[in-house]
Amino acid sequence: MARYTGAVCRQCRREGQKLFLKGERCYTDKCAIARRAYAPGQHGQGRKKTSEYGLQLRAKQKARRFYGVLESQFAKYFDMAERKPGMTGENLLRILESRMDNVVYRVGFAASRKEARQLVRHGHYTVNGKKMDIPSYLLKAGDVIAVAGKSKNSDKIKAVVETNGARPVPKWLDVDKDKLEARVIQLPNREDIDLDVEEHLIVELYSK
Ligand code: SF4
Repeated sequence: MARYTGAVCRQCRREGQKLFLKGERCYTDKCAIARRAYAPGQHGQGRKKTSEYGLQLRAKQKARRFYGVLESQFAKYFDMAERKPGMTGENLLRILESRMDNVVYRVGFAASRKEARQLVRHGHYTVNGKKMDIPSYLLKAGDVIAVAGKSKNSDKIKAVVETNGARPVPKWLDVDKDKLEARVIQLPNREDIDLDVEEHLIVELYSK
């Protein structure tokens, strides 16, 4: 599968915001946003004039990078969001939040969405008792994800859960750290999602 192979922290600096792409480092003063809070490149510190299109593009790129989703997949999610009742922008963020890799990260079973994707692909988690190794799998209200039986004894998984278990968990998810499982109580509302983006700009971009 195609994936982004460039310098990860550049993506945060480009968007002017922490996107939490690197796990533990993102919570320390080694974070590139804390040290160089300006866009990368020769003109990164120059005066910026942003067009309407530029603002829309940045909003889309920020959301896409935050969730680690490629362009084509993001466009598919937008189509899905448009077909659902309600606000398209909010539907889009809800779909992105319901991805298996995002939920594994949100409940502290991985240090970052990138690590979550890798661990999911390696078969370390189940959904409703069945092995699930598709990071883009979309979870529904009531679904239960858990660390797979054999992985509960893995030193790597134990260390990951121990290190990331202290992160706050959004209220739409319920985690049982002893059982190493988590339940989707309901899919999130906009106010439950901590991505600082004006999603109407993404809708405007795709509506051109
Ligand atoms: Fe972004 Fe994390 Fe790098 Fe900071 S350390 S710039 S939050 S990826």
